[in-house]
Amino acid sequence: MFTQSNAMPVPSHSIDLDFDRCHLWHPYTSVTNPLPVYPVSRAYDVFLELEDGRRLIDGMSSWWAAIHGYNHSVLNEAIVSQMQRMSHVMFGGLTHDPAVELAKQLVALTPQSLQKVFFSDSGSVSVEVAIKMAIQYWASLGIISKNRLLTVRSGYHGDTFGAMSVCDPVTGMHSLFKGAIQEQFFAEAPACRFDEPCTDSDLADIHVMLERHHMEIAAVIIEPVVQGAGGMRFYAPHYLVKLRELCDSFGVLLIFDEIATGFGRTGRMFALEHAAVAPDILCAGKALTGGYMTLAATLATERVAETICSGNPGVFMHGPTFMANPLACAVASASITLLESYDWKASVLRLETGLLSGLESCREMRSVKDVRVLGAIGVVELHSPVDMALVQKQLVDKGVWVRPFGRLVYLMPPFIMHDEELGILTAAVCDVVKTMC
Ligand SMILES: *Cc1c(COP(=O)(O)O)cnc(C)c1O
Repeated sequence: MFTQSNAMPVPSHSIDLDFDRCHLWHPYTSVTNPLPVYPVSRAYDVFLELEDGRRLIDGMSSWWAAIHGYNHSVLNEAIVSQMQRMSHVMFGGLTHDPAVELAKQLVALTPQSLQKVFFSDSGSVSVEVAIKMAIQYWASLGIISKNRLLTVRSGYHGDTFGAMSVCDPVTGMHSLFKGAIQEQFFAEAPACRFDEPCTDSDLADIHVMLERHHMEIAAVIIEPVVQGAGGMRFYAPHYLVKLRELCDSFGVLLIFDEIATGFGRTGRMFALEHAAVAPDILCAGKALTGGYMTLAATLATERVAETICSGNPGVFMHGPTFMANPLACAVASASITLLESYDWKASVLRLETGLLSGLESCREMRSVKDVRVLGAIGVVELHSPVDMALVQKQLVDKGVWVRPFGRLVYLMPPFIMHDEELGILTAAVCDVVKTMC
């Protein structure tokens, strides 16, 4: 399946790391005192090949996205054949097969009530779109006071201003942008762990917030079951059942951010399936294109869409230049078809078993606070923050690509990873964690 990649020529010159160091910003880094970056010359299967020829086993799926691994012949073919028809056309006044076919798949895969699809360019933008939909919904009903959001702590929803306003106020460093971002309502993060029961007391705080402020709140936004970049926390699915009830009783919309969890990562196609709860608005991104291109979607119910469009000005006020980019839609469509073509649930379950057994030995280490696994997500939570540059190097020296942040060393491998590679990955993590104290 990956023979094609091996035939690909590698550039003859070496990557200009000096220029990178002097001119390029990397995510959340300093340009004046940059940490080392590793030059990658190609990626295939579950491997990242560095310029010096070293081959790393990828434990990150490039931030949740590359669920099928890299340089997959089926996905390559989808992009190439779409490119030969058209790479892009504006979506205003025009439509095309890749967008329509992808929307059909998304409508079929998500809860029945979600029928309207809005495509955008990235996860953060899909969150902006969801927030705008919620506010415009209430405005259309003449209730302009409901223009703020309620969320839980430890969340992560993206880096743009609206999305940032609902990220954890401490780790999201809101104070830096005080005055520039909308102040939202924050309730305690769900405390009931994934396999624990969830009681009304777990929602006491959010209940009080809704009671007091529902006339100012357009929607609750939350990552279902797994809180990702805000802390890699897994909570009881039943929390969502109770949250849905609360939202309904206080007349507040519910937005699920499935950008990290969508497309099988937690063992279900969408994490909301653990609870069988449908939101009013849902955001998807990251693994949507199998990690090939940037694309996201915001899905809404008939009721939300119709209400927005029945008000003034009668249209939804958003429309990105690259909306529904045909290349991105085509590869997303192929990625979903590929996922459905094999028993991905068995693969994720196999990874879950491998992560559990592979990370088990970390549990007893002094530096480790908690080890938790759900689906194809494995987390080692430490007592204190890691020295990222040091740990990164140690892991690379062991032949694996893992990027810890804060107190978390976490793995989310491509679904196609073999047990042997997963064993190397988890052993490398345990070895490195063992050296910490
Ligand atoms: C990554 C992420 C986002 C933001 O997506 P971008 O594509 O980086 O803009 C939003 N929500 C969640 C849950 C995410 O994991």
